[in-house]
Amino acid sequence: MTARDLTDLSDIREPIAEAERWLTAAATEHAPAAFASSFGAEDMVLLDMIVRLDLGIQAFTIDTGRLHEETHRLIQRARDHYGRNIAVYAPDTAALESWVRENGPNAFYDGVELRQGCCAIRKVEPLRRALEGKGCWITGQRRQQAATRKVLEHREWDDANGLEKFNPLAGWSTEAVWLYIRRHNVPYNALHDGGFASIGCAPCTRAITVGEDIRAGRWWWEDADTKECGLHVAAPRIPGRAA
Ligand code: SF4
Repeated sequence: MTARDLTDLSDIREPIAEAERWLTAAATEHAPAAFASSFGAEDMVLLDMIVRLDLGIQAFTIDTGRLHEETHRLIQRARDHYGRNIAVYAPDTAALESWVRENGPNAFYDGVELRQGCCAIRKVEPLRRALEGKGCWITGQRRQQAATRKVLEHREWDDANGLEKFNPLAGWSTEAVWLYIRRHNVPYNALHDGGFASIGCAPCTRAITVGEDIRAGRWWWEDADTKECGLHVAAPRIPGRAA
């Protein structure tokens, strides 16, 4: 079946069942399970499944301080729509103040190392706190999203954080994600209607044009093989901390 054949939920019955099996495995074999959402389309599919299955998986997000207003609106809307609290983690204030004082608020445009330093403080360190005491975590990553995710497994060991990581949508196509959203009336980020394929920080994410790679809108000034924020790679050094 080709992607454009997808018109009805029955067309993605098996991907849905597979994702639900992975969510169930995460929740039952590695409790407490935590779901990390950046409020992109894939994350909304998973949040909908998690609420529907009622497996006790805790949803959280990281507010880096540089998110789009559309993403804040969706966080509020998702809370109202699903009647669930979604934990919001923020960067360490002292570390962030120090980094900005030293480098400037937009230094991430000046090189990969500075960009990764900003991501380490605004994303990676809050993620570590969010995962403390958890048995596993769940993400909305898909193989189709990036050159860095072509070999993504449904389940992997996250060495940086020392726990199991599940990617229940690893094999899903973009079309399957949007079919699920439309058919289940899942709330989604308004940025997608403006051409944003992936949701991240406002200064580091842009809309893409037809034919561009899905991750082309993230850190577009860098090479494709550096385009990860540190959440899904081996532990980067957090500035100001011993390696
Ligand atoms: S995506 Fe950009 S603004 Fe956000 S944490 Fe990374 S470098 Fe900083």
